[in-house]
Amino acid sequence: MVEPKYKRVVLKLSGEAMAGQSGFGIDPATIKEMVKEIKEVHALGVEIAIIVGGGNIWRGITGAEMGMERAQADYMGMLATVMNSLALQDVLENNGVPTRVQTSIDMRQIAEPFIRRRAIRHLEKGRVVIFAAGTGNPYFSTDTLAALRAAEVNADVILMAKNNVDGVYDADPRQDANATKFDNLSHLDVIAKGLKVMDSTASSLSMDNDIPLVVFNLNEPGNIRRVVLGESIGTVVGGK
Ligand code: UDP
Repeated sequence: MVEPKYKRVVLKLSGEAMAGQSGFGIDPATIKEMVKEIKEVHALGVEIAIIVGGGNIWRGITGAEMGMERAQADYMGMLATVMNSLALQDVLENNGVPTRVQTSIDMRQIAEPFIRRRAIRHLEKGRVVIFAAGTGNPYFSTDTLAALRAAEVNADVILMAKNNVDGVYDADPRQDANATKFDNLSHLDVIAKGLKVMDSTASSLSMDNDIPLVVFNLNEPGNIRRVVLGESIGTVVGGK
């Protein structure tokens, strides 16, 4: 049997990954494709925690730009991540992958509250744990949640799955034909060069806690498995 490079991973999916071609809302068929891959990785015995963004439904900053109070708009964003997490849970379980959703804001009728030790226990028992409702705090992002939970559950790596971008570039490859891709970077490089990998809070947290990231293209079938098996695709940030 193939030996995975990472035993326990945090997979960060953007809200966009839950939407179909339109980029908005939840598309079960799109989720199903992704779940096939998650299931394969799960079958390798890898412990998986997942964090989904909410940008396919609502982003706090958009509400703030429309004149809403930022904190209020951010709470709406956190609720959007719960909807995505429940959709993902549904498709995972329909495909035979056991899961638990844990939220940072209590909503006991639909999910467990976040309890670190319990989350670790679920992972040890082979359940995929989906962390929802952001950090529970406005002004943060789900990238920061990924860095935080990765530290809390002692994950070996954060897998930053991107939509149609295959790694970290020195410029936006969609706008600049001369943009070059990095194979390896340090967290400090990301912060100092202002590279758009995670927001700066999430980057500093990953740096301070020495958590490596692999940034890769989610839209290339088989990539989650490739990354977990240690193939060099995408960009590794902070890895040894
Ligand atoms: N959010 C928040 N605190 C958190 C995490 C998320 O306030 O700890 C809100 C914020 O408004 C954000 C929205 O939830 O815009 C959706 O999350 P994010 O933008 O990270 O999703 P993604 O861009 O990955 O789809």
